[in-house]
Formats: sequence, C-alpha cells, structure tokens
Amino acid sequence: IPTSRLDKLLANMGYASRREIQLLAKNGRILLDGAPVPRADERLALTPDLETRLVVDREALDPLPGFALMVNKPLGVTCSHKEAGPLVYDLLPPRWRRRDPAISTVGRLDKETSGLLLMTDDGALLHRIISPSRHVPKRYRAHLARPLNGTEAALFASGTLMLDGEDKPLAPAELEVVGEREAILQVHEGRYHQVRRMFAATGNHVEALHRESVGAVSLPADLAPGAIRRLTESDIAAIF
Ligand code: URA
Repeated sequence: IPTSRLDKLLANMGYASRREIQLLAKNGRILLDGAPVPRADERLALTPDLETRLVVDREALDPLPGFALMVNKPLGVTCSHKEAGPLVYDLLPPRWRRRDPAISTVGRLDKETSGLLLMTDDGALLHRIISPSRHVPKRYRAHLARPLNGTEAALFASGTLMLDGEDKPLAPAELEVVGEREAILQVHEGRYHQVRRMFAATGNHVEALHRESVGAVSLPADLAPGAIRRLTESDIAAIF
C-alpha cells in the first residue's frame, strides 16, 4: 500500500498549496476518523477507505488518486485544448481540474459526437483501455444522411476496408441496422474520425453520432448530457 504525506496528498488533489494545508490542519479543519489531524506532515496509507475517513472542512473527500469517471459528453464540447469551444474538462468540479496527476480523457470523441466518454487520472488504466492490442469494443449509434444500401455490414466485417490516406485496413467491425438511416456500429479500434470515415467510404454521411458503450460499460439512461459519474471497481473490470 503506498503512503503519502497528508499535505502532499491534498495539494496534489487540488485542495490548496502545501503551506495552506498545513494551516488547515493546524486549525483543526482536517479530520481523520473524526479527530483533527494536527500535523500535515503525517504519512497516511492510501487505502481506499481513506476516502471516507478523511474529511476536509466537513466535506467528503474527493476521489483518491487512481480513479475513473464517465461523462455524457454533450454536442459541441471538445476533448482537445487545441480546438475552440468549451472543454469536457470544464464539466468537472474546479478543484478536480487542478489535480496532479491530471485527469485526462480516455481517447477522444469529436466535438460533434455525444455520449459515453471515460476519464481517468490513472495513466496505466488509460493505456490499457486505448491500447490497440486490447480491442476494447466501442458502440456507436449513427444517424445517416442517406438510406443504408445493404452492403455496409459485409464491408465493415470484412477486415479489408481501407480508409483514405491510411495504409492498413480496418479491423472487422459489426454493424446492426436499426432503421433506414440509423445503425449501431461496434468498432475495436480508435482511428481518427473512424466511424464518420467508414460511412463516408460507403458513400453516406453521418449526421449524428452518439457513443453508447465502451467495453461492457454503457452510458446510463439517467446520466444527463454534461453529467459525470464515478466508475465503480466493477465498471472498470467490465471495460475489458
Ligand atoms: N468515430 C468518429 O468518427 N467520431 C468519434 O467521435 C468517434 C468515433
């Protein structure tokens, strides 16, 4: 079990500077198991139960390092600091945006794609999810400009589809037609604009795109656009 000094832990979680945390402790505003922690240089074991045992200013503690979130990404919100517009990071509580390690998105969704986006401060977890060799399936619901022509499912499943400008064919992907101009596509890679480019390769155009799941984690029906929710340990296990 790793340990951390209390002042370093809370500073890295975005609460305040180490100096300010030392003052909070001195003023009795940090409680462990209900009793004030007078010294911020105390070392604490980072067990999961610390999250409920440690209280700052009567507030439940933010997630300890090594956690993951799901977001229902709204349309028009971007995952990239390089793009104009509101950022998914702005959906997080301000303190969470000051964390070190920082919370980052697990892959990206286009600005004009909505739905399930995972975020984590755990670099190892992030890499496990986005690693091409893991083939974590991602399900998208696409609304199309034109009726499906009936050849798409076989083409996408073939493992031979080559996107413009690339030199390696796409891995097989599964298409389920749910309407004349609506389909669910499950892919196992995460190439740039992949779903839009796959339908473009069939002469169609994606008008709306929504991610419904990543691995066995589905967007909960009660998670409103813009809302965030902590992933449980079993949610995380279900990704793979
Ligand atoms: N494919 C796309 O084209 N866009 C996304 O946002 C995700 C997958």
